[in-house]
Amino acid sequence: MKAKVDPDLCIGCGLCVTTCPEVYKMEGDKAIVHVSIIPKAAEENCQKACDECPVTAIIITK
Ligand code: SF4
Repeated sequence: MKAKVDPDLCIGCGLCVTTCPEVYKMEGDKAIVHVSIIPKAAEENCQKACDECPVTAIIITK
């Protein structure tokens, strides 16, 4: 499982970082994915962060 944040859509609300800091972090005023492969243990929270993003900026690929 992989994830990325579309920087053109991200509004920097920080919700994904709060929900899943194992995968997301803030870089300036945008969130980024700081791991290349999502650890198994973080997959559920990573998906939750994707579902919660108010502007659907998170793209997850299996
Ligand atoms: S939840 Fe969405 S809009 Fe908010 S920081 Fe994360 S990627 Fe950006």
